[in-house]
Amino acid sequence: MNSRIQQHGVANAGMMLVISAPSGTGKSTLIRRLTAEFKAFAFSISCTTRAPRPGEADGREYHFLTREEFERRRESGYFAEWAEVYGNFYGTPRQATVDLLNAGRDIIFDIDVQGARQLKENLGQGCYVFVFPPSREALERRLTGRGTDSPETIARRLAEARKEISDSHWFDYWIVNDDLSQAYEQLRSIYLAEKVRPAYQQAWRDALSRQWGER
Ligand code: ADP
Ligand code: 5GP
Repeated sequence: MNSRIQQHGVANAGMMLVISAPSGTGKSTLIRRLTAEFKAFAFSISCTTRAPRPGEADGREYHFLTREEFERRRESGYFAEWAEVYGNFYGTPRQATVDLLNAGRDIIFDIDVQGARQLKENLGQGCYVFVFPPSREALERRLTGRGTDSPETIARRLAEARKEISDSHWFDYWIVNDDLSQAYEQLRSIYLAEKVRPAYQQAWRDALSRQWGER
């Protein structure tokens, strides 16, 4: 989609696409589809104090840190946002985010509601999408069906979901992930529409103006 811009060697500003949803809603499934279709997306690699799951590699899914190291970085202002989620700390490295945006890369974030709010306040930009499950029952079924969580963890995630849903009012977009294909169509439409906002096309527009001798 950026071929016209790349042809002229003009990098536009990168866009932050921030996606939050109660655990089990299908957020990772939607993000995987989007990054498979739009391969230029950068994924924001968070730091976490949770242990790696089988198949996860340090520096790929997450940067895995001790609690002490996380706290040290947090105190030094290393994170653009951080939150405690299900008993572990998670945070988004600020400099890596800013560097990617300045290089014109679009970044996708999979972060919780508290973190998304902080990101909006601290960086003052981005598109914020909240994904809802179609019902409480469907959410429970998906959490159980995924087979990665104990019944206690599932109960805790369902209780958390209630809070997350009640904190979702400030997001830019709401998607209900009932039919996956439809939810995906909505997500990719949001991305494509946001990308043509003037804020993300300033460099291209300025380069065009210069062809008329404007500065
Ligand atoms: P999250 O990242 O939000 O925790 P996942 O993407 O891991 O959720 O999805 C949770 C489970 O629900 C997975 O087993 C996934 O295949 C399934 N799932 C995702 N979207 C749908 C959907 N629209 N309908 C039915 N099942 C879905
Ligand atoms: P998981 O441990 O299952 O990978 O992620 C658990 C939760 O932490 C998910 O809701 C995910 O969105 C959230 N999360 C992952 N990275 C970050 C982060 O950097 N900041 C915040 N605030 N939440 C995160």
